[in-house]
Amino acid sequence: MIIIKKAPELDAMRRVNRITAQVRDDLAALVRPGITTLDLDTAAFELIRRHGGVSAFYGYRGFPGQICVSINEEVVHGIPCKRVIREGDIVSIDTGISLGGFIGDTAITVAVGKVDDEKRRLLEVTRAALEAGVAKAVSGNHLGDISHAIQTVVEAAGFSVVREFVGHGIGRDMHEEPQIPNFGKPGRGPKLKPGMTLAIEPMVNMGGSKVKVLQDDWTAVTCDGSLSAHFEHTVAVGISAPEILTLSPNSGAAL
Ligand code: MG
Repeated sequence: MIIIKKAPELDAMRRVNRITAQVRDDLAALVRPGITTLDLDTAAFELIRRHGGVSAFYGYRGFPGQICVSINEEVVHGIPCKRVIREGDIVSIDTGISLGGFIGDTAITVAVGKVDDEKRRLLEVTRAALEAGVAKAVSGNHLGDISHAIQTVVEAAGFSVVREFVGHGIGRDMHEEPQIPNFGKPGRGPKLKPGMTLAIEPMVNMGGSKVKVLQDDWTAVTCDGSLSAHFEHTVAVGISAPEILTLSPNSGAAL
């Protein structure tokens, strides 16, 4: 069952997701060569605490970090550690916050210093795929319209979507129904209705779509070692347009 949020619940979702977007932007601004992924995690703890929230990821099925930080061929769920971020890396930061009984969830991939054109294209295509998916989060569309829009953008660029991990409904729980694959057919799946809140999150590999989970039981990496990017917005399904709940609070821009 897909939970329809009423006005007060949507307001609570707006609040926590705005904060989550702010923390995402603050963390992204900290990324530079020489810092460790644990430095980002420590900063996340402090930023989230300052807003009165707690990490939605810490302790989730035993996850040991405040945020997920995934570098280069790491797809998602990287555990913050002493790994040093280097010039030329691409760094995915996934931020989830619990506040006021609701969850915010957003992710961004940032390029560290100078990166080559193909890496930059991977980030641009993944961001564009997210935008294309988000644009379909409108009443009367079907869930498959979101999935198909994402897949179309990614594959037209010659990249591949990850199939083992998906977007999700979100609200009081981080993972609610429905699952939102980043591939699918238009017109299929449940009809979208106002009050549904969805975390849409394309994970895009430069090479093949296959991924595997490392021995730490969390970090997902591409099987072929190719680079991977991840962008995520939490959105509310709108009547004529989607409402992106994780727009940048400073610029008002999408990712
Ligand atoms: Mg998510």
